[in-house]
Amino acid sequence: MLKRKQTRQQKNEKKSKETANEETKETKTTNRRKRCITWFNPPYSKNVSSNIGKKFFDLLNSCFPPNHKLHKIINKNTIKLSYSCTPNIKQIISSHNKRIINESSNKASTTKLCNCRDKPSCPLQGKCLEQSLVYQATISETNTNKIGTYIGITENTFKTRFNQHMSSFRLHHKKSATALSEHVWKLKDNKKDFKISWKIIEKSAAYSTKTKNATCAFRKSISF
Ligand SMILES: [Zn+2]
Repeated sequence: MLKRKQTRQQKNEKKSKETANEETKETKTTNRRKRCITWFNPPYSKNVSSNIGKKFFDLLNSCFPPNHKLHKIINKNTIKLSYSCTPNIKQIISSHNKRIINESSNKASTTKLCNCRDKPSCPLQGKCLEQSLVYQATISETNTNKIGTYIGITENTFKTRFNQHMSSFRLHHKKSATALSEHVWKLKDNKKDFKISWKIIEKSAAYSTKTKNATCAFRKSISF
């Protein structure tokens, strides 16, 4: 029994000590005063030869001398200086390019891809409003199963180019507008039935003059 009492007493003593310790800790932490530091981060440049840090603190001393009423708030202990990094030309250019690419891709994702009234009869399977692409027209004669292909390129939407093609098939004075229209008129004159199907061969999101030159090499390659 005595032993038990002793152990209990010991336990109680330990507990009280621990709580006392915790209290002292708390008082210590509450007493710790956070220093309010204001940072001055001038951008660093190798081209600047003057010692900006020294000049800045000299200014502080001259503008807020010890007898100044703001000296308590603004002094060497409350104001610190550290140079900040600035992006180099490579970073500036790459971020600029990224922003432009993102904008164009966002536009492409938000814009409509098809404005056909009858969606199933869309000439490009619901993608007729795609822009700047290389497309292929496959013309097949229904009786003989002869197949011919025509590859074209457009900077506008496919729909506008498609409409131009269709008008060239319809209007006689536009007969020789493209090799495709010439072929269509030949079939029409020979009273042969045919079908035309369209597909995208290549899509370039950023259609620049450089890529234009490259793709012009195989522009309007025909094999009838
Ligand atoms: Zn469409």
